[in-house]
Amino acid sequence: MTNIILLGPPGAGKGTQARHLVENRGMVQLSTGDMLREAQANGSEMGKKVADVIARGELVTDEIVIGLIREKIAEGAEGGFIFDGFPRTLGQADALGDLLAEMGLKLDAVIEMAVDDSALVARITGRSTCGGCGEVYHDQTKPWPADGKCSNCGSTDVKRRADDNEDSLKTRLMEYYKKTSPLLGYYYAKGQLQSVDGLQSMEAVAADIAAALD
Ligand code: AMP
Repeated sequence: MTNIILLGPPGAGKGTQARHLVENRGMVQLSTGDMLREAQANGSEMGKKVADVIARGELVTDEIVIGLIREKIAEGAEGGFIFDGFPRTLGQADALGDLLAEMGLKLDAVIEMAVDDSALVARITGRSTCGGCGEVYHDQTKPWPADGKCSNCGSTDVKRRADDNEDSLKTRLMEYYKKTSPLLGYYYAKGQLQSVDGLQSMEAVAADIAAALD
């Protein structure tokens, strides 16, 4: 059982690599972004409360995301957890350490997915995902199939995120540098940080992550 964090700015490819690890290693992906979008889609009180914050590209409170993660960790995962988009602040990192310790679990690795800022805008602004299975597409590099059906599951439900626009992305990047990038030093000091070049092909990044874990 391996528990890891994928750390990197929006558009670094965390979600894509997390999906790959789920399929190949039987790990469980815990994406706080996905959980928050689900809460919005369900129309829950919490979902309504965070909608504007997410649309602007700011971070929601530590309390909310730590609560979401606590519930999921309690459910357990035989193959281990992939934390995707969490933790994003030092407070969240401390809370994750405590939650794992309470469950008798440990963090095996923190993988930094390093990418140039200049690549992020292009990656984010052409992005779509399949509403059926979560497969990630991109207008330039991996367009939605011409027959209108997801190549993975056949769904015709193309989803674009409301916060995948240039204005929100600027705020999301600011939030990353101000609040999340200090986690690189935090985990480096604990001897847990490994870095991969996130600008390579999806397959090459996956191979580097596999090498880091094995
Ligand atoms: P993501 O899908 O990871 O890009 O997250 C989308 C948005 O959800 C972020 O821009 C934040 O507004 C919010 N969010 C997701 N995860 C967190 C987190 N760990 N802490 C605070 N806000 C989060």
